[in-house]
Amino acid sequence: MKNTDLLAIAEEFGSPVYVYDTEKITNQYKRLTKAFKSVNSLKLNYAVKALSNITILKLMNSLGAGLDTVSIQEVRLGLEAGVAPQDIIFTPNGVSMEEIESVADMGVQINIDNLSYLEQFGTKHPEVPVCIRINPHVMAGGNSNISVGHIDSKFGISIHQIPHILRIVENTGMHVNGIHMHTGSDILDIEVFLYAGEILFETAKNFKDLEFIDFGSGFKVPYKEGDIETDVEELGKKLSKRFNEFCKEYGRELTLGFEPGKFLVSDSGYFLAQVNVVKQTTSMVFAGIDSGFNHLVRPMFYNSHHTILNISNPKGKERFYSVVGYICETDTFATNRKIPEITEGNILAFKNAGAYCFSMASNYNSRYRPAEVLWHEGEAHLIRKRETFEDLIQNQVPTTLFSNEEELVASK
Ligand SMILES: *Cc1c(COP(=O)(O)O)cnc(C)c1O
Repeated sequence: MKNTDLLAIAEEFGSPVYVYDTEKITNQYKRLTKAFKSVNSLKLNYAVKALSNITILKLMNSLGAGLDTVSIQEVRLGLEAGVAPQDIIFTPNGVSMEEIESVADMGVQINIDNLSYLEQFGTKHPEVPVCIRINPHVMAGGNSNISVGHIDSKFGISIHQIPHILRIVENTGMHVNGIHMHTGSDILDIEVFLYAGEILFETAKNFKDLEFIDFGSGFKVPYKEGDIETDVEELGKKLSKRFNEFCKEYGRELTLGFEPGKFLVSDSGYFLAQVNVVKQTTSMVFAGIDSGFNHLVRPMFYNSHHTILNISNPKGKERFYSVVGYICETDTFATNRKIPEITEGNILAFKNAGAYCFSMASNYNSRYRPAEVLWHEGEAHLIRKRETFEDLIQNQVPTTLFSNEEELVASK
């Protein structure tokens, strides 16, 4: 997308606004499928939590992706988007048994990640095939927020508990059709990932009727120049080869699954916000925008870097700015960042705003969540309206408590 396209969108739909470029999503999808082209059966289930707009889910479905969901509400969004229940996998953590049963009733693939529920579910519904989420205890990436394979993680059933899993499966007569892992958000070292894969293959041999092995996600995308990204082509080459060998050993063609979120949508997204004020202090120049961590929390929550463009003045002389929000708390998007000269009223574009940006937005400070726009084949389509004051109050129940007396009398 060109700067001028983004500017036109900010003008037409106002700010702040999220924009997603379908071409980038499509290219990422194709890149991943191409990397694994030598695998007989590949299934990419898009992780809905990254960006859950129904139009995005429809796009994923049209590309051939299934969905990876973590709540019954995400499942319902998927069904609303027209995705078939058999193309949806439910990989929750810590949700209620009722929720799991309701989702199973919808015909969605269940993925169970604790022994207690495996036993309960298997006892009640031995006929419903389930996938089992394994924790191989392999560290992927260094940030403990996003490494979910380590020993203290709440995710998955420990690899050391395989004997207990097998006992439950035998006792209940349940049917295990898939093995799953999701080790963390960053596959940086392909050898480490392949090692986790070996653990999964070893585990898989214990189950006779598998249909798929799901390797979760963790594809790292670059956020700035020089960032390391997952070499999906190399991973594709090595894992495909090993997977095909394993299928031979296993004696049956299995489906290789992944659940990419960030990889498919991160780079497709732009977040556009307007500069309200340029404020010089004794130590810094602040650019204060009409947004905050209510709309884009990743920089504050994960310390993530989002490249910031001044699309109103792209050729301007570069100066150093700290870009901050309008929330009454520290909400710094970027500190001491070189950006083409900013004047009040300029529109800034944050890159990599497709994944975990809108989907983590809130109404904090009683602000409206932004609009979302899809850029498809050179045209902008509104795919979510900006909220209004009605949205803020629609679920609040008015009472006469604490109203002053005159009003009470008047209302009688
Ligand atoms: C969040 C999540 C994903 C997606 O992770 P990305 O880093 O966005 O690709 C995949 N699988 C599960 C189970 C998840 O919880």
